[in-house]
Amino acid sequence: MKILVPVKRVVDYNVKVRVKADGTGVDIANVKMSMNPFDEIAVEEAVRLKEAGIATEVVAVSCGVAAFQETIRAAMAIGADRGILVETDVELQPLAVAKLLKALCDKEQPTVVICGKQAIDDDSNQTGQMLAALMGWPQATFASKMALGDAGGQMRATVTREIDGGLETLEIKLPAVVTTDLRLNEPRYATLPNIMKAKKKPLETVKPADLGVDVAPRLATLKVAEPPKRSAGVRVADVAQLVDKLKNEAKVI
Ligand code: AMP
Repeated sequence: MKILVPVKRVVDYNVKVRVKADGTGVDIANVKMSMNPFDEIAVEEAVRLKEAGIATEVVAVSCGVAAFQETIRAAMAIGADRGILVETDVELQPLAVAKLLKALCDKEQPTVVICGKQAIDDDSNQTGQMLAALMGWPQATFASKMALGDAGGQMRATVTREIDGGLETLEIKLPAVVTTDLRLNEPRYATLPNIMKAKKKPLETVKPADLGVDVAPRLATLKVAEPPKRSAGVRVADVAQLVDKLKNEAKVI
């Protein structure tokens, strides 16, 4: 069983991002970039399935500029077997990524695609869902637990999802798309020997045109702005004063 894991290169989660002075976007010049945290969880889950003898191959895929190959190497250091970079300088939106992933799924025929639930740069939470729709495959999003098995000759995934009211467990037929939530697993740290080994693993590069996909943006960003600054708080002397302020100043009680 082959598992495809799409991994995105994003601004590291520890970085406090700054909006560009002209309001056209976020300044990523000289900023530390890392693999999207939900994608690390996806790679870890796929590698665990391989270690358990359920999956036979884990393929990491990334769509973006040449530097995205660092993210594929990071996935290989966790344990992915090989990588595919869809290289383009066009800023990709979720629909374009989903179309590229569809083209790769048609070619690679994976049994499961494990995506992150969202990329922490644009917080779109769309790509996995769009890919499932384009493939006509079932999807189980926000997975906090997943198990793959064979029931009556049909491969299935049993996935526990984190939803507003608690947990929901679904059984879906494979091939399918699963998207990861935070509690699915705790990704391992890549060891130095595995980082070195990852440098030798195969990494193929293709262009969107090779896959016959038009990646032209469909959405235009009008403006990016910093959130409003929080005004300073006040210290109250006692509960009576707090209640008075809530009632007469904030008028919330
Ligand atoms: P999004 O819909 O942008 O929030 O992204 C959801 C998931 O789709 C990510 O966690 C990745 O697994 C995948 N994804 C999004 N953009 C890319 C990309 N450029 N390359 C590879 N995978 C991506």
